[in-house]
Amino acid sequence: MKRVAVLGSTGSIGKQTLEVLSHIGGYEIASLSANENLSLLLKQIREFHPENVYIRDPIDARVIKKYYPRINVFSGKNGLLDLTDIPADTCVMAISGFAALKPLLNLIEKGIDRIALANKESIVCAGAVITEKLKHSSSTLIPVDSEHSAIFQSISSNPRKFVSRLILTASGGAVRDIPLEELKTVSIEKVLQHPNWKMGFKITVDSATMVNKAFEVMEARWLFDVEPERIDVLIHRESIVHSLVEFVDGSMIGQMSIPDMRLPIQYALTYPDRKSSLVQTLDLSSIGRLTFEKVDIERYPAFPLGYEVLKEGGIMPTILNAADEVAVNAFLNKEITFGDIPYVIEKALSSVENKMNPSVEEIEEANEIGREVAKRIIKDIC
Ligand code: MG
Repeated sequence: MKRVAVLGSTGSIGKQTLEVLSHIGGYEIASLSANENLSLLLKQIREFHPENVYIRDPIDARVIKKYYPRINVFSGKNGLLDLTDIPADTCVMAISGFAALKPLLNLIEKGIDRIALANKESIVCAGAVITEKLKHSSSTLIPVDSEHSAIFQSISSNPRKFVSRLILTASGGAVRDIPLEELKTVSIEKVLQHPNWKMGFKITVDSATMVNKAFEVMEARWLFDVEPERIDVLIHRESIVHSLVEFVDGSMIGQMSIPDMRLPIQYALTYPDRKSSLVQTLDLSSIGRLTFEKVDIERYPAFPLGYEVLKEGGIMPTILNAADEVAVNAFLNKEITFGDIPYVIEKALSSVENKMNPSVEEIEEANEIGREVAKRIIKDIC
């Protein structure tokens, strides 16, 4: 039996990870972590019998301890880091947001054999720090994000020098067909209706603004060591081709499946092996046709900002991430409109002075600054 830790087990990716683990078998659960969903965590404890768990609120932790005195229960600000000190063979990092950065760095320092990375923010904000740390670690980082899993599978054993371009595909999100003049004030309900993927609220909004794709360009830059000029994005409405790699001879290799996160999660766990999965096979004849279009910048004004901050480097990706998190939250709380999201991000980026080669502490500081600046900009709008 391999020991696996699932961090962020009550979120969308976490829940699907547990489903996949039950399906493929051969794992014992070393640790589970949840931010605040106590009732689901308790249910997962009953079903999966973890040795260690984390929940943020110490009062919730006491509830768990009362019912399960033999489990090590961690909580509070440093509890998550303590949890990542516990040895495991594999860790699925499915915590969402910036909070995943320190635990991820700790996993790499500890040399956890395999880290299945589903968190974007850590690599977006601290890509340089993470890749540098990986060079001195025995850990292998395997992407869970569907596009990056597709690239990982398509590159396969081909040497990196043969890769000429990465092509990420994007569905275009929930508002791809809304007339441009209605886009600025489109309702939350419409934005949350993703045409192809079932995901959490934050990422579904990010998908509609294509900030999510901007993040994925940054992820790809660090995960595959390819300069941004050689990373392209195409709108692919069907979400069947999850991304492609172009090689120096003009050959393109991509990965196809029906859109279901359980597949990239499973591959990150079983790689280099493959096992039968819970995912339906693809019936291409019933899909009929696959379409690809260029990204319309007018519809997705926040998307090119991803390339800009990658070029600028330093703390700018962190500012983008922080401003987006605050702006999306304000949109979901009906404080700003959908059209305000790119405005808040752009304004935040132009209000902060860059700092090159930031340390982890400086990245954390930039995250706070980015959030504060964005909150001020939102206050001015309201
Ligand atoms: Mg993705």
